[in-house]
Amino acid sequence: MMNLKDLVRPNVWEMKPYSSARDEFHRSASVFLDANENPYNEPYNRYPDPLQWELKDRIAELKDVDRRSIFLGNGSDEPIDLLIRAFCDPAVDCIVSIAPTYGMYEVAANVNDVEFRKVTLSKDFALNADKVLDEVDEWVKIIFLCSPNNPTGNSLDRNEIYKIIENFEGLVVLDEAYIDFSSEPSFLPELAKFSNLVILQTMSKAWGAAGLRLGMAFASPEIIGILNKIKYPYNVNMLTQQHALEMLNNETEMLKQLRSILSERIRMQEALEAVPIIHKVYPTDANFFLVEVSKADIVYNRLVRKGVIVRNRNNVTLCQGCLRITVGTPEENDALLEALNSNS
Ligand code: PMP
Repeated sequence: MMNLKDLVRPNVWEMKPYSSARDEFHRSASVFLDANENPYNEPYNRYPDPLQWELKDRIAELKDVDRRSIFLGNGSDEPIDLLIRAFCDPAVDCIVSIAPTYGMYEVAANVNDVEFRKVTLSKDFALNADKVLDEVDEWVKIIFLCSPNNPTGNSLDRNEIYKIIENFEGLVVLDEAYIDFSSEPSFLPELAKFSNLVILQTMSKAWGAAGLRLGMAFASPEIIGILNKIKYPYNVNMLTQQHALEMLNNETEMLKQLRSILSERIRMQEALEAVPIIHKVYPTDANFFLVEVSKADIVYNRLVRKGVIVRNRNNVTLCQGCLRITVGTPEENDALLEALNSNS
């Protein structure tokens, strides 16, 4: 990797972060007169731990990573934006990613006035590392990859991912939001080997906590330090920290839900393939299917009228005629099948 100092925006490298009253989180103290809080209305009167150490310790244990290699944010959308803000100079630097993929990389690039170059996947949604690396020049600071990919559902080829990490001098952000549903292992054990690798995960999918807003970025302590430097001081609120910790302490419940989703995924693969208006069900490693139908807009609107909401991907690169369908409960999945199979 390039020297971190040469990769980070100079203003971010030079700046002093905001120093909040709770930067030194004195857990053992008993009188807190440092943060202009109201002394009543406990526990909500207090600012939360800005660096969420209790939560990070549990995540470090679960994921077998160093606690200093973890950044927590308001969903993984937060580290996506922070990475761009920390590493890409507006109107100068560039990002390379794939198409189709998760839309927030491009939105965050646009908000930050950073050029976003897209490399279209093959027809079966495979990644070609050489095509991605061909887009790299001195202005490209980050490559965003997503595996399993959204909205296609497939995992990207591991060797192609390695090739990109090994041959790119900037940051490779690998979004593993759907990794818990995948038959492929996470890249987390590779973190120590690659100083330019950033892995994103989230509590919004397998952990069933999209409403909590807790996203995770894993990277070298130096990269995590840069994100901590520019984040809002109290970016993860107290309720989220407490509830997330409770959930992470009950992994059994998550695994039970995961098993149910995975068994429904098997059932739905066959059931969707048997639906006459569906021409193709793409293989999936995630908790959703991309399916191709004859007239996507019409099918989508018909499902809406029946109260079943899926995601219309008809206008997305390589996804013409496609709907993206999340795996729900057995009852929800049956309702979808009934709506798809009825002619009215
Ligand atoms: N990455 C991918 C690939 C996603 O599909 C999503 C949500 N749809 C996110 C990140 C955002 O997750 P979060 O809820 O943690 O912001």
